[in-house]
Amino acid sequence: MNVAIIGAGTMGSGIAQVAATAGCSVKLYDTKKEALQKSEDALEKILRKITDKGKISEDEKNRIQGNIAYVNSMDNLSDADLTIEAIIEDIDIKQKIFRQLEEIQNKDAIIASNTSSIPIAGIAAALENPERVIGIHFFNPAPLMALVEIIPAVQTSEEVKNKVVQIIADWKKVGVVAKDTPGFIVNRVARPFYGEALRIYEEGFASFAEIDNAMKELGNFRMGPFQLMDFIGNDVNYSVTETVFQEFYYDPRYKPAFTQKRYAQAGYLGRKSGRGYYHYKDGKIDLEKHPELKGDFDKEKGQQILDRILVMLINEAADALFLNIATAKDIDSAMTKGVNYPKGLLAWANEKGIDWCVEKMDELYDMYHEDRYRCSPLLRKMKKEGKKFGV
Ligand code: NAD
Repeated sequence: MNVAIIGAGTMGSGIAQVAATAGCSVKLYDTKKEALQKSEDALEKILRKITDKGKISEDEKNRIQGNIAYVNSMDNLSDADLTIEAIIEDIDIKQKIFRQLEEIQNKDAIIASNTSSIPIAGIAAALENPERVIGIHFFNPAPLMALVEIIPAVQTSEEVKNKVVQIIADWKKVGVVAKDTPGFIVNRVARPFYGEALRIYEEGFASFAEIDNAMKELGNFRMGPFQLMDFIGNDVNYSVTETVFQEFYYDPRYKPAFTQKRYAQAGYLGRKSGRGYYHYKDGKIDLEKHPELKGDFDKEKGQQILDRILVMLINEAADALFLNIATAKDIDSAMTKGVNYPKGLLAWANEKGIDWCVEKMDELYDMYHEDRYRCSPLLRKMKKEGKKFGV
């Protein structure tokens, strides 16, 4: 299969590697020659490392590299069966590129966007044949993260959706189909991991380290929320939150936190700027400055923190199911395969008990009387019927 990738940045380069490894003939296009060179050099480095470790043979390395051509003219993309665009997050520029593709490619060629936040229907609307447009959302780093969200727009044909589901499976990725709604699955369901942690901090109930310790040690998350926000970059994480909030017509559930905005404004972006919620040294948290991250912590308080963030995550996952954003199975694998959660949230809800989830949400609502803490109607209905999630 001939695959074209547009944009040789972080995502485009990773996706090109995935497609080339799966045996596709890939053309990686970027307007900047330096970006193409950087991408080619980075791939050589990654493949050299895994070849030296014995994970792939020298032949396999050559085969993968031989499958990618680095091009800087769009004319080279005319024979692509599938194009995945991964350029800057700007709808006008994406639409322009899609229109250019439509002019040079066959009518049945699939055109996809890797966008994290732009509605696929809006991009597709620019084309004469919008039924061939779909979202294919990879996670960073694309070669390592198993999850791919597949997002058909209202215009997308069933045939195109089915073909893409098959291609993603052939590429040995876990594909989940999500509705074309803000944040798709992962970036929607994960919001409380950050938002509720920030809220707990803002109320003065616990410090960054206390919250991170609770989520890591008691919840088995790989990183605590503040460590993860520092890792992602406070500017990037804040901007996703703000976009989701706006796109949801200012639903208070997704309201961004002033703390994060101020940290981003102050340039405390996290690991990449040397300071975020924590201080960094050689790309790692400076534990000399943060002994609290290693020390003992109050387990009872930790449990309260975990329960509050967890129930908000479960509520979000349940609501995503209630609104048919994806199937229960796909919502759970999205969170375990896209952001490495230790368990699927709906499976976790079953384990904690649906009654527990409803009671915890109602406790929060009684305390605050904020719409942010409204319990999903699905959880309430399931409690009444004594049902569990089918995961
Ligand atoms: P990036 O800045 O690393 O790379 C973008 C590349 O596109 C650059 O090399 C740039 O030269 C090139 N480019 C810009 N305009 C172009 C044009 N008109 N034609 C051809 N090439 C052009 O960006 P990224 O982080 O790889 O993100 C790309 C897309 O993927 C965005 O839509 C983003 O929302 C989405 N995404 C990013 C991540 C992530 O974690 N970085 C994860 C999932 C999805």
